[in-house]
Amino acid sequence: MTQGRAGAGSSVTPPRELFEILAKPSGPVLCLGHVHPDGDVLGTLLGLGLALGAAGSSVTFAGPHPVPGVLSFLPGSDRWQVWTTAPGHFDVIVMTDCPNSDRSEGLLEGARGPASRVLNIDHHPDNRRYGTIDWIDPSAAATGEMVFDLVRALGLTITPAVALNLFTAIHTDTGSFRYSNTTPRTFRIAAELTAAGADPALVSDRLYQQRARDSLVQLGSVLRRVEVSPDGQVAWLTVPRDFVSREFVESEDLVSYPRSVGRVKVALLLREEAPGTIKVSLRGKGDVPVNEIAHRFGGGGHENAAGCTLSGTLEEATAALLQAVRESMGTARP
Ligand code: AMP
Ligand code: MN
Ligand code: MN
Repeated sequence: MTQGRAGAGSSVTPPRELFEILAKPSGPVLCLGHVHPDGDVLGTLLGLGLALGAAGSSVTFAGPHPVPGVLSFLPGSDRWQVWTTAPGHFDVIVMTDCPNSDRSEGLLEGARGPASRVLNIDHHPDNRRYGTIDWIDPSAAATGEMVFDLVRALGLTITPAVALNLFTAIHTDTGSFRYSNTTPRTFRIAAELTAAGADPALVSDRLYQQRARDSLVQLGSVLRRVEVSPDGQVAWLTVPRDFVSREFVESEDLVSYPRSVGRVKVALLLREEAPGTIKVSLRGKGDVPVNEIAHRFGGGGHENAAGCTLSGTLEEATAALLQAVRESMGTARP
């Protein structure tokens, strides 16, 4: 796929074929999300879809799971549909931030007809290239950076609603511009989005300053469960099912707490999603590529942020993960 860089940290050119399809969509466009949608997938799909809609396209937004309450401030999120099966085929299907088609829970297969063009726009290095056109840029901190360049290249208007969506995509994937994926390009795009009407204070307020009082009680009980290895390099948090509410777990970035302990190189969050199903989030700080650990369990992600799902009890999953982390650290780069 041809993809040009106009210079370090400046804008990136989307592949010509992708540009041409979106410049003149011939029919309905489906913006399709991945499981448990986060700020990057929602912000990019809503931002691009609203911009295409304003230019005259018929756009549908859908995914296998609803918009979490904490992200319901995103403009256009009231149009998000939750599907168990796709209602029919679409001419153009845009998927963003989605490394493999399994993460649409079968919706991509249902919406994809013989003539459909699937546009796979992502920044995961392990993207499985399931699109008709795959535009993958692992150097982007968030898919939001890529979609900003795309919207610009298409000459679409960046309204305040589009800007707020794209800004939130970048804000969430960079941990509020704190993680090592944050680059000059990130700040340049964030500055342009702010100038176009995204309000950084509003985003921080909606994401972090709207907790229910009860959340602090739940946070207190969860934080007591953080464990740290004797050498201080691994920290983990296990959350049994029904220990706290699902809403609470989904609205808090719980893995950031074990990650925040000094000297920790790998942080884990293991939560029992259903009896016998353990969802794991892994975070690194540049020393250990945690996506390699996630791959061993059929998951994936970025070097410093990855995930996987295991079968078994919380104790079994914790033991398996800690063993894998130890093995990786033995061979980790110095
Ligand atoms: P999370 O810990 O769920 O916030 O996910 C961190 C990163 O890992 C995100 O970029 C996800 O796309 C990716 N990821 C999480 N779970 C999986 C999985 N089961 N398979 C592939 N990638 C995953
Ligand atoms: Mn995502
Ligand atoms: Mn992302």
